[in-house]
Amino acid sequence: MYVKELFVDNFRNLQKQKIEFCEGINIFYGLNAQGKSNLLESIRLLSMGRSFRGSKTTELIKFGEDYFYVKAIICQENNDKKIEFGYKRNENKVIKVNGNKIKSTSELLGQLLTVIFSPEDLNIIKEGPSHRRKYLDSCISVVEKNYLYNLMQYNKILINRNKLLKTIKEGKSRSILEVFDDQLVEYGAKIIVVRQSYLKNVEINIKKFLLEISNETAEIVYLNSVGLKDASDEEIVKKRLKEKLLKNIDLDLKYLTTQVGPHREDFKIIINGYDSRVYSSQGQQRTVALCLKLSEFEILKKETGEKPILLLDDVMSELDENRKKYILERLQGFQTFITHTTKRDLKGDCYFKISNGVVIKE
Ligand code: ATP
Ligand code: MG
Repeated sequence: MYVKELFVDNFRNLQKQKIEFCEGINIFYGLNAQGKSNLLESIRLLSMGRSFRGSKTTELIKFGEDYFYVKAIICQENNDKKIEFGYKRNENKVIKVNGNKIKSTSELLGQLLTVIFSPEDLNIIKEGPSHRRKYLDSCISVVEKNYLYNLMQYNKILINRNKLLKTIKEGKSRSILEVFDDQLVEYGAKIIVVRQSYLKNVEINIKKFLLEISNETAEIVYLNSVGLKDASDEEIVKKRLKEKLLKNIDLDLKYLTTQVGPHREDFKIIINGYDSRVYSSQGQQRTVALCLKLSEFEILKKETGEKPILLLDDVMSELDENRKKYILERLQGFQTFITHTTKRDLKGDCYFKISNGVVIKE
């Protein structure tokens, strides 16, 4: 698939305008703070329903205005698809696909397939477990239909279970806890099994990419909450999770939070035998992040049978010549959006200059 046309109105600093893209590599160049990342953010918003920079929807409205609207025309096997996202301050967001209003973000996922590469990807490697979980969940949500729903249900039950822990501590009976535990186990096991399978897939891909780019070995270790080396059997996972919940109840009551479950999980990326988070150099970590994204792209392509769109925000300046060449070769045949401060040293199919929120095609 590819984005044929984009229309933005009151989105960040971008001027109200319609932009037509080409099918191959689109290069956006301009000085700092002109609107390059904002443009990619508007496309990614139509793909995932939220900002890739973690901004709230209200923050996307142009300063001094009270709404924004973004629309894209996507081409897919000669079919045009229209996706719209509108938001007015203090009102609900409105998302439409081909003119039909959709009820939840999970219905949007899969409509416009994108993978974003940005310098912040390094945080997935460097930062704490919540960053990796968030990343993993967003990747899986696009390729596994019920995953986001299960995750949302799980989180809802978790909040209620934690509230219940408080009332038990205050003297209420424990008997109702089992009902919550059973529900938590039901959704939790589904999440764990899917994460296990996705990470296995990531491992296969990341191994290949890392070997080709830097001749290093890679391994992924899923630190699941049930302590299983292979958490792919849902019934076994359910049983183990239930046991773990029962075993930890005293700790749960002490801290008034649930100590075990998918909300506490993590995964490690082991490079040449060592945990990349702890032992890899900055450059190595950047390469691992790049390989992780390339894996995400491969899996998305394979699972959907579609050609995803690549959004590369400011990553070219951070890569050495070999890595740059490798990534550009892999992107052949896919629509790609690249932001860069200069037009030089990047070969694209079409170029756009961005200045003060105005995008001009050359
Ligand atoms: P860099 O090369 O530094 O990454 P960029 O071209 O990617 O720059 P953007 O991140 O797109 O820059 O931001 C462009 C400008 O948009 C910034 O000056 C920023 O302050 C401004 N901006 C951010 N949010 C809003 C908003 N809601 N309304 C208006 N302007 C905004
Ligand atoms: Mg930027």
